[in-house]
Amino acid sequence: MSILVLENLTKAFGGLVAVNNVSLEVKEGEIFGLIGPNGSGKTTIFNTINHFYLATKGRIIFKGIDITNKKTFEIARLGIGRTFQKVRPLKRLSVEDNVMAAAFARESTFEGSRKVAREVLEFCHLGEVSHMPAGSLPIAGRKRLEIAKALATRPSLILLDETAAGLNPAELDEAIDIIKKIRSELGITIIIVEHIMKVIMNISDRIHAIAFGATITEGTPKEVASHPTVIEAYLGTDATLVGGDYAGA
Ligand code: ADP
Ligand code: MG
Repeated sequence: MSILVLENLTKAFGGLVAVNNVSLEVKEGEIFGLIGPNGSGKTTIFNTINHFYLATKGRIIFKGIDITNKKTFEIARLGIGRTFQKVRPLKRLSVEDNVMAAAFARESTFEGSRKVAREVLEFCHLGEVSHMPAGSLPIAGRKRLEIAKALATRPSLILLDETAAGLNPAELDEAIDIIKKIRSELGITIIIVEHIMKVIMNISDRIHAIAFGATITEGTPKEVASHPTVIEAYLGTDATLVGGDYAGA
């Protein structure tokens, strides 16, 4: 059964069509990869699902409910969590307080949100640094904090936007383990945007490839990686296959 359906989703900024008529269906329990060169519209798709941006055209259906016109907080409450490509923790607050602030999206009590925060921090291997100021975390920790904040909203679908960017090989393996555990232990469906091929190919069940806002192809990692237009799209821009941290919302 599909947990999320995008029907002819289009998002234009003035004359720039950042997302152009994209349709896709994510099945419950799936790890669904979304790839495309830098600037191809991946983050904009997430921002439209979340209603940071209102879709110009098309519909977004989550668990059978049309959420196209719902507000960001309503969408979070319905069960869509997300991370941000640009991590912006409240630097002076502790790691735990950052996660508690996110947990209040669902929890109404201080104790309740602290309990949730502690659970997700353990899950993301941040239990030992939970009392440190968030600003003192190195990049790998900040990326895991993003995941913890998203998990604290108790989502049934999580959107991960380049959570592995900027990590060294050991940190990458840790990130992959955590992402896999999000599905296997928490039963959460995942849509993952990632430039690092090792990550996306290793963990996705299916991959949807876009370029210039429009769909190129969709299929298994193997099918997509061997698709000529995908190869061309990546070779046509530099640095997109090798990872690194990217600018963008
Ligand atoms: P990706 O995440 O695939 O790198 P983005 O979704 O961030 O790409 O960007 C897609 C296109 O939309 C880019 O050309 C970007 O400059 C443009 N864009 C994104 N957000 C905005 C915005 N708020 N206003 C205007 N243009 C935007
Ligand atoms: Mg992006």
